[in-house]
Amino acid sequence: MNKILLSSPTMHGEEMKFVQEAFDRNWIAPLGFNCDGFESEMSDYLGRGISEHFYTLALCSGTSALHLAVKLAGVKRGDTVLCSDMTFSATVNPVSYEGGIQVFVDSERETWNMDPRALEKAFEKYPDAKVVVLAHLYGTPAKLDEIIEICKAHNAVLIEDAAESLSATYRNRETGTFGNYNAISFNGNKIITTSGGGMLITADESARNKAFFWATQSREKAPWYQHKEIGYNYRMSNVVAGIGRGQLLHLEEHRELKEKIYFGYKRAFAGLPVTMNPYLPYTRPNFWLSCMLIDNNCDVSPMTVYEKLASCGIESRPIWKPMHMQPVFMHNDFIFADERPVDEDIFARGLCLPSDIKMTEDEQNGVIDIIKSCFCK
Ligand SMILES: *Cc1c(COP(=O)(O)O)cnc(C)c1O
Repeated sequence: MNKILLSSPTMHGEEMKFVQEAFDRNWIAPLGFNCDGFESEMSDYLGRGISEHFYTLALCSGTSALHLAVKLAGVKRGDTVLCSDMTFSATVNPVSYEGGIQVFVDSERETWNMDPRALEKAFEKYPDAKVVVLAHLYGTPAKLDEIIEICKAHNAVLIEDAAESLSATYRNRETGTFGNYNAISFNGNKIITTSGGGMLITADESARNKAFFWATQSREKAPWYQHKEIGYNYRMSNVVAGIGRGQLLHLEEHRELKEKIYFGYKRAFAGLPVTMNPYLPYTRPNFWLSCMLIDNNCDVSPMTVYEKLASCGIESRPIWKPMHMQPVFMHNDFIFADERPVDEDIFARGLCLPSDIKMTEDEQNGVIDIIKSCFCK
C-alpha cells in the first residue's frame, strides 16, 4: 500500500491559473488582485444565504489572524482570557503574545468543544474576564447558542478559532461568522490550503481596517515611514492568494469527500467498541478529521492502533493534547464542570484517523481492516 496520510494538500489545477496571472502581470509582492479577489470571494462564501456582510483580511497564517483578533479584542498584559483547552496550541498562544493569561475551559462530550457549563463556572471564578477564545475542533461546530448567551451575559468578546472548520455550519450559518473576531487557516493540512495562510473575519469594518493597519507594519499616512504603534508583517502574498482562489472553487467538494470518509468509518465500526467524534444534529461539520473514541470498558489503547497503523505506513494522530496538560501552561488555571475533566478522558481514548481526500475507498477499507484487527484477540 502507498503511504496514507492524515490530511494533505489536494490541488486541482485551477490554482495555477491564478498564480500564473500573478506571474504574467509581474504582480508577486504582497497585496494585489489575488488578495483582493480571495478576500471578496471568501466574504461572499461566508455570507451566502444571510443578509450580513463579513469583512475579511488575508494573512500569512491562521495564527497571525488569531493574534490580530486578540489585539482587536483589547487583551492587555495581565488580562484573563477564557480559552478552549483541548485544541492546537496556536489557538491560545496569541493570548501570550499580548501578555494575557489563559484560563483553560474543559470540553463537553457532545461536540468535544468548550463546555458551556465549565465556561459559566470560569466566569464565576474570573468575573473580570472579558474575552473568550473558542475553537471548533476537527471541523465540528461547538455549542454556539449557549456559549454566545454566556458571553453576552458577561459582556465578553468572542473570538472563534475556525481554523479547522471552514465550511462547517451551525444552524445553517458558517462557523467563523459568530464571534466578534474570527480566524481561519489555510495551512497545508487544512480542508483547503494556500500552502500556508490564514484569514481574519469580522462584521466590523473599522476592526478590519485596524487589523490591516497592524498587519502592514502600522504605517501612518505620510510620505515617509511614520509609526505611532508597533506593527507586524502579516499580509498574504498575491501568489499565495492565487492558490487560495483556486482551492475555494473546490471547498464544497472537499467537504463532501471528508464526509464520505467519516461515514465510511462510522459504518465499518458498527460492531466495534468504538464511536466516532460526535456532532449536534442541527450542525453540519466539515469532517476535517475523522476521529474514533474507544469505549471505556475496552482495554485496547489508541496507541496500539496508532503503532499498528504506523507499521503499515498509515498516519494517525492522538487527539490534541489538552493545553492544561502542557508544560508551557503548567501555571495556568483549568476549569471543568464534570466530576473529572472530560477532555483528559477523550485524549486518553481517542485517535485521529487518516482523512486525506485522496485516499481511495480500497485504501480506506485497508485502514479499517487494520483497525478491526486491533480489536479481535
Ligand atoms: C491550524 C490551526 C491553527 C493555526 O493555523 P496556522 O495557519 O497553521 O497558523 C490554529 N488553531 C487551530 C485549531 C488549528 O488547527
